[in-house]
Amino acid sequence: MLKPDALNAGNIGGITKMIEEAGFKIVAMKKTRLTPELAGKFYAIHKERPFYGELCAYMSSGPIMPMILEKSNAVEDFRKLIGATDPKKAAPGTIRALFAKSIDANAIHGSDSDANAEIEGNFFFSQFERF
Ligand code: ATP
Ligand code: MG
Repeated sequence: MLKPDALNAGNIGGITKMIEEAGFKIVAMKKTRLTPELAGKFYAIHKERPFYGELCAYMSSGPIMPMILEKSNAVEDFRKLIGATDPKKAAPGTIRALFAKSIDANAIHGSDSDANAEIEGNFFFSQFERF
């Protein structure tokens, strides 16, 4: 999912280019916006963390672009491609090193397991939006 800062900065093209060049097939993609309630639902796994309120406020502050991506070993390879959560710690050449502004405005979200990728894909897309 591209976060509001990535869309505001005009980085849809730059980031999706890197995703495709890394061998991911974009199966579904759209521009949409979360309400604070929906952001809270999406990030429910972080409910107990101190930054949960800020995270939900930030993720509903502007449009986002969720995607379903396909590749072998997708979760692990995608997390390598996006880099560390804090862009100051993200390896050179990763999406967050190149495009993220701060730990909250960090350009992109990646699922952390196959099970969560399934849940998160179903959160945003119906079966008719996947090709
Ligand atoms: P994501 O789930 O968005 O791919 P991540 O898996 O690298 O990121 P998580 O630990 O799952 O990181 O945290 C989810 C999001 O919450 C982060 O992307 C970041 O925007 C925000 N976040 C994480 N830690 C902090 C923090 N210490 N302060 C502020 N925001 C944070
Ligand atoms: Mg995470």
